[in-house]
Amino acid sequence: MTTPSAKEWWEKDRQLIWHQMARYQPDAHPLVVTRAEGAWVTDVEGRKYLDGMAGLWCVNAGYGRQELARAAYEQLIEMPYYPLTQSHLPAIRLGEKLRKWLGDDYLFFFSNSGSEANETAFKIARQYHRQNGEPDRYKFLSRYRAYHGNTLGAMSATGQAQRKYRYEPLVPGFLQVPPPDCYHCPFGKAPDSCSRECAEIFDYTMNWEIDRTVAGVIMEPIITGGGILIPPDDYLKRVREICDWHGALLIIDEVICGFGRTGKPFGFMHYGIQPDIVTMAKGITSGYLPLAVTAVRRELFEAFKGTEEYDHFRHVNTFGGNPAACALAVENLNILEKEKLVERSATLGEQILASLSDVEDLPHVGQIRGKGLLIGIELVEDKETRQPANPDRVNAVVATCKELGVLVGKNGDTVAGFNNVIAISPPLSLTDEDTALLVKKVKQALREHAS
Ligand code: PMP
Repeated sequence: MTTPSAKEWWEKDRQLIWHQMARYQPDAHPLVVTRAEGAWVTDVEGRKYLDGMAGLWCVNAGYGRQELARAAYEQLIEMPYYPLTQSHLPAIRLGEKLRKWLGDDYLFFFSNSGSEANETAFKIARQYHRQNGEPDRYKFLSRYRAYHGNTLGAMSATGQAQRKYRYEPLVPGFLQVPPPDCYHCPFGKAPDSCSRECAEIFDYTMNWEIDRTVAGVIMEPIITGGGILIPPDDYLKRVREICDWHGALLIIDEVICGFGRTGKPFGFMHYGIQPDIVTMAKGITSGYLPLAVTAVRRELFEAFKGTEEYDHFRHVNTFGGNPAACALAVENLNILEKEKLVERSATLGEQILASLSDVEDLPHVGQIRGKGLLIGIELVEDKETRQPANPDRVNAVVATCKELGVLVGKNGDTVAGFNNVIAISPPLSLTDEDTALLVKKVKQALREHAS
């Protein structure tokens, strides 16, 4: 039997697969990836690409890690599956490991995806308040431009019109406020002279929503998929204070920012706060197997424990905390520790920002910003007005990068016209050589579309 040609695979793909985010495939066919090693993926034609997006912001330890495959294989041989309605050793070991990363104050609820980790957080928060005699606290506040997942609750917390307007009505009780978007401040202010209106708006909203109806606030430390928006340094601290004042829980979504992406173990650690709940997925297994975690402060857990509410916490899932995924996650975190990849993310991020600085003057490069290996290049039509670049211009830069052998992302929201940020988020294990190549090709693509 002959192996199908690339063309035949593309045709089979077209017949069989309903793709996610199909508009992210500007070509006639998707990239059909057959092999991956380090930061490189090879497609069905044998072409190699440097993956500047670590898949979908996932592959923190890089591709092709034999240790990870082995950890999963060995666990599958020993004990392939048991639900966490009871327990198993890989989950306990991963819990111990996560305490080292996050702190001793947390317990861990396992599920399968970032969306589900956020759903779990919403349910825990609502039930916690009910348990505390405040059943009217059911609302959640989040920010426009932020993404929190694709299930109905997580999508309701998402502040991107494009992602949700087709599925309305959404879950009641989810409200959005403007984000800390310093380049296009929704309050018309500048970061060095503003009064942090973007943080104070939480206080304002909680007051006007009638005090004590807000269960919690969910936010990423840095808005990622919505355009890599880095808040002012004191923003999160102020939001934390406002949540405390109003008795709302602070849920930090670390699905992308976690596990070294921003140059710290978790993104919130840049900002000197302690979240009540932390949600994680993607980088916990470097994307090799599905696994997600909702980490809950002990104090919250203890409000449940030993009460009827603990028995009634109804978020059962069949696959959450799958033993092979947990064993692989422990090994993945071992790799990040041994190879000091969190620190490497911080160093490489600074290096990349420094070497991109000479394209800042190009007419369509509005702003280049980032923390660790989470970097955004915002393209504009006009540097004065900061009008977002037209989609054709953004697509052309992404397509040229691909022709030059480098995969980069683009993000934002097409409905609002802000789909104009080129995202660079490679594996944290990127070699020096690959780093230089990535920067060189991105700069070349930006220069080719400079006029
Ligand atoms: N939160 C954030 C910040 C995300 O970026 C994503 C996924 N891109 C999710 C939640 C949802 O994760 P998943 O796709 O695993 O459901």
